[in-house]
Amino acid sequence: VAVNIDGVLYGQDNARVSVFDHGFLFGEGVYEVLRTYDRRPFLFPEHMKRLRASAARIALACPLTDEALLARIRETVAAAVLEGDAYVRILLTRGEGEIVYDPKACPSPTVVIIVKAHADPPAEAMVNGVGLSLASVVRNHPGSVDPAIKSNNLLNNALAMQQAYREGAFEALMKNHRGELCECAQSNIFFVRDGVLLTPPVDAGLLVGVTRGFVLELAAASGRRTEERVLLEDDLASVREAFLTSTTREIVPVVRIGTYTIGEGRPGCVTRQLMDAFTAGVPGRLT
Ligand code: PLP
Repeated sequence: VAVNIDGVLYGQDNARVSVFDHGFLFGEGVYEVLRTYDRRPFLFPEHMKRLRASAARIALACPLTDEALLARIRETVAAAVLEGDAYVRILLTRGEGEIVYDPKACPSPTVVIIVKAHADPPAEAMVNGVGLSLASVVRNHPGSVDPAIKSNNLLNNALAMQQAYREGAFEALMKNHRGELCECAQSNIFFVRDGVLLTPPVDAGLLVGVTRGFVLELAAASGRRTEERVLLEDDLASVREAFLTSTTREIVPVVRIGTYTIGEGRPGCVTRQLMDAFTAGVPGRLT
C-alpha cells in the first residue's frame, strides 16, 4: 500500500489527513477509482473527465492537470511495490479550514491517492453468477445530491450494502424515488431481453459508470441493440440475463435479484460474449 497526500508519499500506517478537512467534517469531496492492467491505468481520460465533472458540481476545482495527476498516480503505484495490478483511489476534498460551510474557509483542496493491490471478484462469482438484494433504502434523488456526483458522502450506498451483507447478497440493487430500478450500491446494472441490452437511463438517478459506458460501446460495436430505458421490479420476471459492471469488477453475471431468479439462473450467453469482448478491449484503452 502507498498513499500520496498532496504530493508526499506515505505508507499505510502514517497516512493522515486533518480532522479539520471538510471532507471529514462535512463529507465535502469527490473521488474516482481506477485500476491498472499491466501497470497502466485503464480508461484514464474517462475517469479524469468524471472527476472534474463531479468536482465542478460541488464548486471544487482539481488543482492538478491530468498529466500531473497521472505522474502522481504512477509514482504512487511504483511506491506501493505490488505483484500484480493496482487499485487506485483518488480523493479530492474541500481541504482544511474553520468549521463553517463557506468554501472560502478552505483555500486549498486536499488531493489523496491510495494505491493497493487490485483484487478480482471471487472466481465463483464470475462462473456461477451472484445474487443481489433489493435495497429498501431509496437512491438519492437527483434533485438533492445527484448520484451522478461521485461523492465521498457514501451513506446511501453504505446503508444499502449493510442490507446486502445481512441477506448474504453480493450487491444491493437500488430503486429511485419513483420506484424505478437505477443502479447497485457500487456498480451499474444491465439486463438482456429479446436480445436487446437494457440499462436504466442516467435520469433515473445513477452514477454514470465508466465501465457502463465502455460496455455500451462494446455492445454497439458488436452490432447489439442497446437501450437506456426505465425498468421496474416487475421487469425482473421477464429479463433473460442480468449483470453488473464496475471498474474493479468489470462484468459480473447476476442470477438472482431479491426473490426473482433471472432467466435460467445461470450466466447467459450475451453476458459471456460481453465479458470476452471486455477482455479483448482492455489493451486498446490503457494509458
Ligand atoms: N455506481 C456506483 C454507485 C458506484 O459507486 C460505482 C463504482 O464504484 C459504479 C456505479 C460503477 O462505476 P465505474 O464503472 O465507473 O467504476
